[in-house]
Amino acid sequence: MERTPITETKNLIGKEVNLAGWVHVRRDHGKIIFIDLRDRSGLAQVVFGPWTKDLYETANQLRSEWVIRVRGTVKERPEKMINAEIETGRVEIEPLELEILNKSETPPLPLDTDGADIDEESRLKYRYLDLRRPRLQKNLRLRSEFIDRVRQFLFKKGFLEVETPILSAPTPEGSRDFVVPSRLNPGKFFALPQSPQQYKQLLMVAGLEKYFQVARCFRDEDLRADRGFEHSQIDMEVSFIDQEEFMKLDEEMITVVVEGMGYKIKQKPFPVFTYKEAIEKFGADKFDLRTEEDKNNGVLAYAWVKDFPFFEKSDDGEWTFTHNPFSHAKPEHVDWLLSGEHVDEILTTQYDLVCNGFEVGGGSIRAHKPEMLKAVFKIMGYGDKEIDAQFGHMLEAFKYGAPPHGGIAHGIERNIMTLAGENYLREVQAFPQTSSGRTSVMDAPNELDKKQLKELHLKIEK
Ligand code: ASP
Repeated sequence: MERTPITETKNLIGKEVNLAGWVHVRRDHGKIIFIDLRDRSGLAQVVFGPWTKDLYETANQLRSEWVIRVRGTVKERPEKMINAEIETGRVEIEPLELEILNKSETPPLPLDTDGADIDEESRLKYRYLDLRRPRLQKNLRLRSEFIDRVRQFLFKKGFLEVETPILSAPTPEGSRDFVVPSRLNPGKFFALPQSPQQYKQLLMVAGLEKYFQVARCFRDEDLRADRGFEHSQIDMEVSFIDQEEFMKLDEEMITVVVEGMGYKIKQKPFPVFTYKEAIEKFGADKFDLRTEEDKNNGVLAYAWVKDFPFFEKSDDGEWTFTHNPFSHAKPEHVDWLLSGEHVDEILTTQYDLVCNGFEVGGGSIRAHKPEMLKAVFKIMGYGDKEIDAQFGHMLEAFKYGAPPHGGIAHGIERNIMTLAGENYLREVQAFPQTSSGRTSVMDAPNELDKKQLKELHLKIEK
């Protein structure tokens, strides 16, 4: 179907156009019917009156969200009819042809508001309608543009985009795993990746040198405004790079990407705080450096936080990693790590990127020698057997000339939340989970039928 994006009509006065989209609003003024026609690009007004003859009768039947095609002429609006609020407010369409492509029942939720005050359950049950809102369309467009610009930047820098498995062995990122039973291996389970951490490091062992992926990650954790079971991240890893070099490269990427999208960054180069300074100054390792004025102007206040403790005591009194067990200790603390001394003083090469109060990225230089990685798990109280069973493949891989390497992951949702000024992750994902952990539109999680349970060698105890 040949068609013109609706907002282009603003530059096509006097021309004939073919438009297709949804009836956003229909206003009936007796002899005149105004239809606000909506497509992905925006809205335009189509005017039906006695002069449009039999089209008027068809227009009379139209209701909200019906799908129509209109061929018509773009006219300049009379001065007093100009609407400065919309992009096409200086023009209107005089129809020559009107075709109903599909009807719609009355939508179960209003679509001509920004949707913020509608309950989450209804919005997500009818997500395909909810997504018709310009605000959500804008957020998905921002997301797509952000990823596109990241890709362009990374390809220019010689990165390779590589996909890694979803059905896999566990990778610890501090959450519970989602698991998938194996039909062919009774009683055994895959884990969905909490991140591609191990695979990306194995790609460095494989000699790829510069990797990235728009990676899907799965973490079974308590849901919050900025956390879902699933999120996507720009996952990167580079060989032969140190902490400072990596932070510089990453900062360049973020700067090029967000400035390219028209945003203003508060301070460049990004300010850097040690974890200790951040806690002393802000009482937390993520903080908002914006003034009220910055907030009103959509300014992005990035900052780095580094020099985190490698370990902390978990609830059961054992040492556990604060960020990432695969990290390299700060060079001056490697000896402590290897000997298991001064554990509470060992700092890691972790760097977190903070923006407007969110942690929008985090990474580290990695341990690339088997004994370093093994020492981390030893401190965490793992025995040799346990280490071997869970991470033997990494220790083995590191025996064969693993290059020094480091990387980062940028949570896509949190980055888009900061760009769009949204407070909830669900506003920047197409089909998010509800806050009680159920899927949008489709009814999951759900029960399996007996046959499937049997095939998977599962018995349900209630
Ligand atoms: N694997 C880390 C994460 O997903 C990021 C990284 O260290 O590269 O948070």
